[in-house]
Amino acid sequence: MEGIDDMEDIFGKKCPILITNVVVGGKRADIFIDETGIIAKIGENIRKTIKRDADFIIDGDGAVAIPGLVNTHTHAAMALLRGYADDMILQDWLAQKIWPLEAHLTASDVYHGTRLACIEMIRTGTTAFNDMYFFMEEAARAVDDVGIRAQLCYGFIDLGSEEKREKECQATERFVRHVKAMNNPRISSATGPHAIYTVSPEGLKWCSAYAKEENIGIHIHLSETEKEVDDCLAQHGKRPAAYLDECGILTPKTVAAHGCWLDKSPTILQAI
Ligand SMILES: [Zn+2]
Repeated sequence: MEGIDDMEDIFGKKCPILITNVVVGGKRADIFIDETGIIAKIGENIRKTIKRDADFIIDGDGAVAIPGLVNTHTHAAMALLRGYADDMILQDWLAQKIWPLEAHLTASDVYHGTRLACIEMIRTGTTAFNDMYFFMEEAARAVDDVGIRAQLCYGFIDLGSEEKREKECQATERFVRHVKAMNNPRISSATGPHAIYTVSPEGLKWCSAYAKEENIGIHIHLSETEKEVDDCLAQHGKRPAAYLDECGILTPKTVAAHGCWLDKSPTILQAI
């Protein structure tokens, strides 16, 4: 790399950037990004005419240039829990290992865990992610500090309790207001009903209505395990996607994570 010596300048403001010697669409090329952040020129050897307009030059060293990757489902702060418990049935993993440990996590842990995950994502080509967790104000602060793009949601879990539901609604509203107040174009919010086995139908319907009211997304786990499907059939007489559709959760702005046990019924396609 050459050009500006002080890296702070690069991330504190928009600078014209020249990326040289990359492969785009199978051909060698240079890429020039202007001071508005737009790719203004792509072509072979444009470095010869552009060089002095760029504040920052990156040598692509023959690598392939692709758009940033998007991770559509994360609990980024769980980077801190990596390796703590693996190869277990989901429900046992959550109930016996993860939830008891998460009960001890602090806001500071979530900030540093999310920040670590953001740095790892950027290093490996991910420039945007869709995150669900708690202490989300701290997750948003980490995203803001690092400079990545994210849709963030508070993980709504009411376990069928009306009292807990009220608290989760308030926490969701508080976080959506917080993101709005941050006014960072790289950060948006969503509602985050965790899953059908942790959120009551009333909670699911509230998350749907509130997302519609705020014109924001919905982020949920869907059909992650065979047990989720079997329990849903036993309790509601229908599969999880049909049940979520009935609760208003399946919309064009919904990201339904996993979907490991979906069937071929057209419920989802009809819903969106
Ligand atoms: Zn998840």
